[in-house]
Amino acid sequence: MNTDKNELKGNSQPTVAVIGAGIIGINCALELQSLGYQVTLVDKGDIGQGCSKGNAGHFATEQVFPLAESSLLWQMPKLLLDPLGPVSLSAKHFIKAIPWFMQFFNNMRPSLRDKNTVAIKALNKNAISHYCALLKEANIEHLITLQGSLLVFETSDYNKVDAMYQHYKNEGVAVKLLDRAETLKLEPSLNDNINYSLFFTDVAHTIDPLALSVALSEFAKSKGMTFQQSAVTEITQAETGVTVLTDLGSLTVDHCVVACGAWSKKLLKGLSYHLPIEAERGYSLSLPISDQAEPMLNRPVASAERRFIITPMDNTLRLAGTVEYAGLNAPANYKRAEMLKNNAAFILKTLPEQKSEQEAWMGCRPSLPDSLPVICQAPNHDKIFFALGHQHLGLTQGAITGKLIGQLVTKKKTEIDVSPFCISRFN
Ligand SMILES: Cc1cc2nc3c(=O)[nH]c(=O)nc-3n(C[C@H](O)[C@H](O)[C@H](O)COP(=O)(O)OP(=O)(O)OC[C@H]3O[C@@H](n4cnc5c(N)ncnc54)[C@H](O)[C@@H]3O)c2cc1C
Repeated sequence: MNTDKNELKGNSQPTVAVIGAGIIGINCALELQSLGYQVTLVDKGDIGQGCSKGNAGHFATEQVFPLAESSLLWQMPKLLLDPLGPVSLSAKHFIKAIPWFMQFFNNMRPSLRDKNTVAIKALNKNAISHYCALLKEANIEHLITLQGSLLVFETSDYNKVDAMYQHYKNEGVAVKLLDRAETLKLEPSLNDNINYSLFFTDVAHTIDPLALSVALSEFAKSKGMTFQQSAVTEITQAETGVTVLTDLGSLTVDHCVVACGAWSKKLLKGLSYHLPIEAERGYSLSLPISDQAEPMLNRPVASAERRFIITPMDNTLRLAGTVEYAGLNAPANYKRAEMLKNNAAFILKTLPEQKSEQEAWMGCRPSLPDSLPVICQAPNHDKIFFALGHQHLGLTQGAITGKLIGQLVTKKKTEIDVSPFCISRFN
C-alpha cells in the first residue's frame, strides 16, 4: 500500500503498544498498523467504552475557539450555583480543581487565546477529510454524514447573532447566518421560538460513535492489530525498548503510545511528566425513535442559549452536553442527563414518542486548561508518544491525531506544526 509499510516489513516488523482503546488510541493504532508496525492495542475495558461511546457524534471542526474565554468569568458564579445548570463544580472536588482553574483563567488572556485558536484551527482543518479517506478505505462510509450542523438562537437580538457570525467568519469557518424561515426550511422539526441560526456547512456527524470506534478497530485487526484487555500500571523505557506493565503481565515493545484520555495523568506521572488534566464530565440522553418514523433532524442542532446539542443517530435522537467538574471517580448524576430533555422541549416542536427505554450516559472529557491536546514524542523518552487531552473535540480530531502520531513515530515531517501540542508546555 505504501512504501513505509514495505520498508518496515522488509526488516523484522517493529512493535508498538497503544494504551487506550478510545477513538484517539484506535486511530493511532490503525495508522501505525497501516504503516507496517505490529500493534497491540491495550485497554482496561472493552473497545470504545470510555468517553468515545455516548458522545454527540459531531465532527465539530467549526469549534476553533478555546473554551477559556473571559466572558465566562462573569457567568461562572451564576452557572456554578445552579446544580442542574450547564456547568457544575462539586463542592468535594473544588479544592482539587483550583490549580486547573487558575491555568484555565490564565488562558483567557487574548494573546494566549489567539495562539491557541491558531493551533486548534490547524488541527481541525483536515480533520474531516482524513476521516472520509479512512472510512472509505474501511468501507464504512455510512458512519459519516456530511450535512453540516446548526447553532440555533432563541434570542431576537440580531446584532448578538451577527457578532457571533462575524467571529466565526473572521476565523475562516464556512458559515451562513439564517433567519427563522430559512432555519425551519432546513429543519422543519425545530420550534417556532428559534429566531436565527448559524449554519456550519462543512461539518459532519456520525450516526453511531461507538460503532465507528468498533468498526475502525475491526479494520485495524484485519490488518494484523491485536487487542489485549488489561489495565496498564506502569511504562518504562530502556535502551532495548519500552516495557508496559499490566495487571496480566508485561509487554516489551519498540514504541508505546499513551492515549488514555482523562485517565492519562497517573501513567505520565510515572514517567515524570506533569499533566494538568481534568475530567470534564458530560452527559447524553438517547431517545429512541421507531424504525418507521422519519428522522426528526437531518444534522446536529446545538442551542446557543441552552448549551447542549441534539444529534440524529441510528434510531435515536441523542441529546448531549453539560459540563460537570467532579473528578474521575464520583458517581454519575443522571439528573444532568434527564435535564437535557427539558432543554430539548424548547428546541423541538415535539419530542420523539417514547416506545422503548431512553439511555442515559456519562463520559469524562479529557480536558487541559488551554483546550489543546497533547500530541508529541515524550521529551525525555524517544520511544514513547502521547496522544491525549482532546477535551470536547476528541471524536473530531481522532483521524488527524492518528496521522500525526504515525508521522512522529516514523520520524517524518508532520503535516502541521505540532509544537503547540507538546507536553513541555506544562513541564
Ligand atoms: C457528552 C459529551 C459529548 C461529546 N461530544 C463530542 C462531539 O460531538 N464531538 C467530538 O469531537 N467530541 C465530543 N466529545 C468529546 C469526546 O468524546 C472525547 O474527546 C473523546 O472521546 C476522547 O477520546 P479518547 O480516546 O482520548 O478517550 P476515551 O474514549 O475515554 O478512551 C480512553 C481509554 O483509555 C482506557 N484506559 C485508561 N486508563 C487505562 C489504563 N491504565 N490501562 C489501560 N487502558 C486505560 C480507558 O478504559 C478508555 O477506554 C464529547 C464528550 C462528552 C462527554
